[in-house]
Amino acid sequence: MFRKVLVANRGEIALRVIRACQELGVKTVAVYSEADARAPHVREADEAVLVGPPPSSQSYLVGERLIDVALRTGAQAIHPGYGFLSERAWFARAVREAGLVFIGPPAEAIDAMGSKTAARQLAIAAGVPVVPGTTESVRDAEEAIAIAETFGFPVLLKAAAGGGGKGMRIVRAASELADALASAKREAQNAFGDDAVYSEKYIEGPRHVENLVLADAHGNVVHLGERECSVQRRHQKMIEEAPSVAVSPELRARMGATAVAAARAAGYVNAGTCEFLLDRDGQYYFLEMNTRIQVEHPVTELVMGLDLVQWQIRVAAGEALPFAQKDFVPRGWAIECRITSEDPSNGFLPSTGRIEYLHLPTGPGVRWDGGIESGSDIGLHYDPMLAKLIVHAPTRDLAIARMRRALRELTIDGIETSRSFHLRVMDHPDFQRGDISIQWLEQHLPELTAPAVDRESIRLAAIAAALVAHEARRAGSGTATTSSTSDLPVSSRDDRGPTWRDVARRESLRSS
Ligand code: ADP
Repeated sequence: MFRKVLVANRGEIALRVIRACQELGVKTVAVYSEADARAPHVREADEAVLVGPPPSSQSYLVGERLIDVALRTGAQAIHPGYGFLSERAWFARAVREAGLVFIGPPAEAIDAMGSKTAARQLAIAAGVPVVPGTTESVRDAEEAIAIAETFGFPVLLKAAAGGGGKGMRIVRAASELADALASAKREAQNAFGDDAVYSEKYIEGPRHVENLVLADAHGNVVHLGERECSVQRRHQKMIEEAPSVAVSPELRARMGATAVAAARAAGYVNAGTCEFLLDRDGQYYFLEMNTRIQVEHPVTELVMGLDLVQWQIRVAAGEALPFAQKDFVPRGWAIECRITSEDPSNGFLPSTGRIEYLHLPTGPGVRWDGGIESGSDIGLHYDPMLAKLIVHAPTRDLAIARMRRALRELTIDGIETSRSFHLRVMDHPDFQRGDISIQWLEQHLPELTAPAVDRESIRLAAIAAALVAHEARRAGSGTATTSSTSDLPVSSRDDRGPTWRDVARRESLRSS
C-alpha cells in the first residue's frame, strides 16, 4: 500500500479521497488555490501545498506543478478525483513518467475512451450496441444532412471531445442543421479546443442508466450494477439512484456484461462507468465511458456495501480484487441529490456569498459528502456543486421519504441552493412512481422551480416568529414554553434562535 497520496482536487471529492486514505492508513497531501486557503480539504489532509491563484487554469489544472508537489512531498501516487485533470491522458502519462502512480485507468484507456467517436468505434468492434450515427466527425452541413436522412430526424450533434453536455444540439429538421452545426462547433472549440462534431440519432424519452465496472491489473473485471441518472437539466445530472426501477435482474446482468466487455476492449483498470440510454422497449445503447470516479459513486457504494474510492487506491497499489460477480446484488435503495449553489426559482442562477450557518441532516441512513462548512465563501471560480446528500433505505418509497426528511433537516443560510428543488422532485407523483425520462425535468421545470412563497408571507411569518420568541422570553424558560411553541412556524433548534431563513423555509414547506 502507498505511504502517501497527493489529492489533486478540491471540494467534496478531495475530502472524500482524504477520508478513504485515512481509513487505509495512508498519509495525504492536499493542494489548494488562494481561494481555498481555508477550505476543509486543506485542514483535513496531513500536509497542504498552495499551487496558485484562484482560476483553476492557474492552479488545479497545472499538472506539472502538481506532479512537482507530489515529488517534493514524497507522495507515491496521485488521485485526480473527478473533473479537472481526471480524464486527461497526458496527465496520467506524465504522472507515470515521473515515477508516480496515477489512481485511475492507464493513459491508453483514457485515450481509447476519451473521444466519443473513438469510444464508439471501440464499442462497435467489441459488439456493444451504440446509438445509430457516425463514428467520424461530420465535415459540413451537407454531409450532416445526408447522414441524418439515413436514420431520420431528430438528430443530436455532439462534440467528439464533449463533456458536461457542452457542444450538443438537437436538430429536428434539415433546414436547422447548418446553424446548429456552426454553433455546436463554436461551443466545442471554446470548451475543449477541438471543434470536431459528429451526429447520432436523438432518442426520444429514454432513461439514462449507467453501469460501474471495477477492474484490477490482474485481469479481473466485475460490474457493480446500475445507477439511474435520468433527472437531468441541460444534459447534467441532478439526482441519481441505485438500482433503477427500469432494470430487471436479467437486464442488469446483460447491461453489466456489456460494460465489462467495453472495459476489457479498452484495457481498462480501476473504476469506470459505461453510460447507456435505455429506451422504453428495454433496448440500450452505449453513450460513452467515464474513465474516473463519478460524482454519483456513493449510491453504488450504499447498495453494494463497499468503499469504491478505497478500492481505486488498492487496485492502483496492485491488489487483486477478491470479488466474484455474484457478490454484487443490490441491497435496498439509495438516492443522491446534488446540492448546488444555484437558485432554482431564478433559472438556477449561480449564487455566491458566505455560508453563514450550516446544519447537516443526520439519523438513520443519511450520508453527507460535502466540502463546505459554516463560514465557507462560495465564489464563481469553481463548480457550483457544494455537496451531495445521499440516503439509503430498504425500499425506494422509504428512500424517498428519508430524502424528504433529510432535506427538511438541512439548513444552509447565506446563499441560495438547490434544496427546495429537490424537495419538489421528491414530492412529485411522477418521480414517486419512477415514471421519468431524461426529458422529464425540463418538461416540469416551472412547477419544480416556482418560488414557494411570496415575499409578503415571508415578512408576516418573520413578524409572527419574532412575537413568539418575545412571548417565550417573557414566559421564562419552562416546559410550557417549549410545548406552546412547538407547532408554530419557528425552528425547533431554537437554542440558536430561529433565523429569518428558518421561518421562511418552514413557511414554504407548509405551503408547498
Ligand atoms: P456529456 O459527455 O457531454 O455529458 P453524454 O454523451 O454523456 O454527454 O450525454 C449527456 C446526456 O445527453 C445523456 O445523459 C442524455 O441525457 C443526453 N443524450 C446523449 N445522447 C443522446 C441521444 N442520442 N438521444 C437523446 N439524448 C441523448
